[in-house]
Amino acid sequence: MSAKTKSPDKAAAEDLNPYHIAQQQFDAAARYVPQLDPGLAVFLKQPSRMIIVEFPIETASGEVRNYVGYRCLHNAARGPGKGGIRYHPDVTADEVRALASWMTWKCAVLDVPFGGAKGGIVCNPKQRTKDDLRKITRRFIAELGDAIGPYVDIPAPDVNTNAETMAWIYDTYEMMHKGQNNLGVVTGKPVEMGGSLGRREATSRGCLFCTQQALARGVVPGLDTVKGATVVVQGYGNAGAIAAQLYAEQGARIIAVSDSRGGIYNPEGIDPLGALKHKQETGSVVGYGGCQEVSNEALLATPCDILIPAALENVIRADNAAQIKAKVIAEAANGPTTPAADRMLFERGIVVLPDILANAGGVTVSYYEWVQNNENEQWEEDEVNGKMRKKMVKATDAVIEKQKEINASLDALENERKKRGLGGAPLEPVDLRTAAYILAVSRVANVTLARGIWP
Ligand code: NAD
Repeated sequence: MSAKTKSPDKAAAEDLNPYHIAQQQFDAAARYVPQLDPGLAVFLKQPSRMIIVEFPIETASGEVRNYVGYRCLHNAARGPGKGGIRYHPDVTADEVRALASWMTWKCAVLDVPFGGAKGGIVCNPKQRTKDDLRKITRRFIAELGDAIGPYVDIPAPDVNTNAETMAWIYDTYEMMHKGQNNLGVVTGKPVEMGGSLGRREATSRGCLFCTQQALARGVVPGLDTVKGATVVVQGYGNAGAIAAQLYAEQGARIIAVSDSRGGIYNPEGIDPLGALKHKQETGSVVGYGGCQEVSNEALLATPCDILIPAALENVIRADNAAQIKAKVIAEAANGPTTPAADRMLFERGIVVLPDILANAGGVTVSYYEWVQNNENEQWEEDEVNGKMRKKMVKATDAVIEKQKEINASLDALENERKKRGLGGAPLEPVDLRTAAYILAVSRVANVTLARGIWP
């Protein structure tokens, strides 16, 4: 069972539908933007387009299997849609809608000229051969037809998809659109075929840059650097395993990590590369030498300085937020914290660096990959990392400043709401997630209005 469907009795009252959560987050932020036209708010909240396709493949064992795939374009006001494709048995239409909307806000926070999109196929890749996965990918992309494209909607990797999957996507699209430069149809490609140096590590590296900047700005009382900090990582895939390596390189001590099969703990520190090698050899970090085994629930409650959720949605909820003992949570995953948990953590002074900021290094370098593809260029890795660092630092600063600005003007905002006849509970100080949303929603709203609502 995936983290997002795990809802112990205590959390039963909490709505864990990711799309409902994304909408709640939007509504919470929109209250601080009183000038936002109510009709425009409805438009910004909903996806522009949702494509659902069903298709068969003939598997390696000769049976015919049917698959459901989704591609959601949430908003394209600021540019073509951008967002990963996820392969997971628990993918739902609402999860894809939520992930697509988070992409819209993420691109706006980072000021990357893309809109938000996401895709997913309901499948268990662990039970499929590589050949099956290639057929599933090709058929899905063929079904999407011109709904994706370098200037329309640009996929990328997400859970259980990687550079190889992106190569299949490119190749399929290329077969259907010969005679033009199609490299920009997908990002996260292998470097030898148009991928960007630094893209594989970008989500985790961006998360590190965001954490470093937030700590340097004094956002987390008693913690001003990653150096010497204790770190716990949930999820040991692209985002999590590389985050463990990069934080360790900066002098942090990785004391616990986990994957879908369980976790490991060692207060003296875990060698991230050793744990990764063990996972590659055995399928899990569990059993890695010198470590105690821990459950994913116990892992989240481990006392540490920095907790990095890097797996799936809804892992920090109303029923376990009180047990979190980290000083700061850096959300490498999308949607790991529910709104109820956000409130509890904010009240306890635990800072959350929200997904739409903290994991945006991935889409930022995807943007650089797209630029390189369009210009037939290959940038040096240092150049890519340097540009991304600048963007992450700027966005982190902007979100911190927005939080300060909003929290210093609650009375004025309240008056503005009254003047406009807007009701509701009194405005309360906002956390960094709501501040990031306010920034993003304002940016997308402004662009929509500047373009003029068509026709
Ligand atoms: P991945 O498939 O490479 O890795 C996912 C990891 O999570 C695996 O180690 C898996 O075992 C683990 N996992 C799954 N269920 C778990 C559970 N219940 N408890 C603990 N661990 C569990 O995927 P990824 O690309 O690293 O994505 C992880 C998260 O990061 C997702 O939320 C994704 O949307 C987000 N993200 C990824 C990127 C990217 O560029 N890959 C960019 C931004 C955000």
